[in-house]
Amino acid sequence: MPSLAERMSRAKPSAIMIIADKAKQLKNDGRDIISFSVGVPNFLPAEHVYDAARTALAEDSGQYLSGRGEDILVNAYLKRLEANGFSEFTKANIATGIGAKHILFSLLYALMNEGDEILIPTPFWTTYQDIADLLGLESQQLPCSAEQNYKLTAAQLEKAITPKSKVLLFNNPSNPTGMVYSQAEIKALGDVLEKHDLWIVSDDIYNRMVFDGIGFHHLLKTNPALKDRIIMIDSISKSYGMPGWRVGLMAGPESVADALVTLNSNSITNIPGVVGAAAAAAIAGPQNFADDMCREFTKKRDEVMETMAQIPEVSCPKPQGAFYAFPDISAVFGRMHHDQVIQNDVDFAERLLETKGVAVVPGRAFGTPNAIRISYACKPQELTEGLKRLRDFFSEIN
Ligand code: PMP
Repeated sequence: MPSLAERMSRAKPSAIMIIADKAKQLKNDGRDIISFSVGVPNFLPAEHVYDAARTALAEDSGQYLSGRGEDILVNAYLKRLEANGFSEFTKANIATGIGAKHILFSLLYALMNEGDEILIPTPFWTTYQDIADLLGLESQQLPCSAEQNYKLTAAQLEKAITPKSKVLLFNNPSNPTGMVYSQAEIKALGDVLEKHDLWIVSDDIYNRMVFDGIGFHHLLKTNPALKDRIIMIDSISKSYGMPGWRVGLMAGPESVADALVTLNSNSITNIPGVVGAAAAAAIAGPQNFADDMCREFTKKRDEVMETMAQIPEVSCPKPQGAFYAFPDISAVFGRMHHDQVIQNDVDFAERLLETKGVAVVPGRAFGTPNAIRISYACKPQELTEGLKRLRDFFSEIN
């Protein structure tokens, strides 16, 4: 048999999905499993989204369509950007894809040559590193500790940038930590970036999920001089309860949007018409549900933090966005759970799943093996029960 391409030796399946699959399998075997592992919100799209999809279906939307995105979707996104204070874009600045993950892959493919350096603040969303590996990029992980609230500092960024640095991959609010940068923190990073010629890929897919009234701030506003180098990414997955519909969006320089449209024309061709129409309806429709969503997530975040405060071995910076918490659990490494040693984050996650039926993701999937990620977007009863089991688990560690 002929061999696979050499680059496939660098590709690996998503570490988050491996745990999620294991949890699913245990559930199918009849075990009572609570999943804190995948980042899926526990609500469905609004009724007007389904209506738009049904109408598109009835109108024979199953033709080849625009690789940039149909006008209805592009215009809905432009209006949403404008409502959020980004009025500088036109259709030529926009491209769409099969989820933010696809947009990210296409972007790095379009912006970077093999061997170029990408800066990845760490903890990072797993896929960043996976795509970088697949494309043969040099990645420089910038470790941001729990003590610095998992946030990149301006001094750290300044020190990290080299002549080979081509892209900074910036994620705010963050998956996996739930951290949100303040306006001053963003401005400080922006001031550093103004002095260096690199692209800034800003993964903003959790921008509607910010709590405690701190607001969502963006480099494009604090440092408008960066306009020609910033690429914004958004997605319908988390905000509108539509992860499987697969629509991602980007806004940025025309040359970059055009590059993505060209890649689309050589790969996916277009977003399916029904899906595009549904996404447009979600983005153009009423947005007040976001307040309810944030209220619900704030309550859940508080419940998570109450539990964390009761576990002396854990240190967990308080998340202010998305729906993740990222407790540092390294204090229990080397200690015993019943007759078994917990050496590391993977042991911890496996043992927790096997003995308590709670699935979390080991921190190494995010470049940070001292921690675990808890996704708290599950049903409220599941959250309460899962947190109780987590507390019990810690209390059994000697
Ligand atoms: N960026 C981040 C930070 C994410 O957490 C995710 C999904 N987990 C994505 C991008 C990809 O989203 P999509 O479903 O639109 O591909």
